[in-house]
Amino acid sequence: MEHIENIYDLLPEEIEKLINKIIEALNIVKDRKNTNSRFVDSEKTLILCPKCNSEHIIKNGHDKNKIQTYKCKDCKKKFNACTNTLVSHVKLTYEQLLIFFECMDNKLSIRKTAAKMNVNKNTVFLLCHKVLDCISIIRENIKLRGTAEGDETYESINLKGTKKENMPRFSKPRSSNNEIQKKV
Ligand SMILES: [Zn+2]
Repeated sequence: MEHIENIYDLLPEEIEKLINKIIEALNIVKDRKNTNSRFVDSEKTLILCPKCNSEHIIKNGHDKNKIQTYKCKDCKKKFNACTNTLVSHVKLTYEQLLIFFECMDNKLSIRKTAAKMNVNKNTVFLLCHKVLDCISIIRENIKLRGTAEGDETYESINLKGTKKENMPRFSKPRSSNNEIQKKV
């Protein structure tokens, strides 16, 4: 899986897909307040089993956070609307998540974001990673169409510990260092 360091390197269509995913995730969190959960998600599509994709779902009570849980009649997996989404295992409020994405949009640091959300830095750090994972999945599913062009790029390599004779080239003398040495 390609590792993405920076959210701002995304292509426009990746950002659009990400925003849709985020809106979907936020709506699920918003729905937590609604105790009469339906068998459809925020986009009014049928809830399917996250394990086997079956439509044969029954309500299975509520968990300790009062979130409607479901059970798949085919594979017996128990899940809720947040399972396998960006917000699974995230115990933040809808308002906190909104602040998070707002801070992300304004390129705020993790420390500043945490302060605005009134949470620990690690919480923001983990959430950032979840978003990056989400982008990686979106990237994997992108198919290029038409003519694709690629430019050459230079990558720096680490030669630390390489013996002199195995170096790809001799190291260049550093004039600035020599001058300093002469002065000393
Ligand atoms: Zn199932």
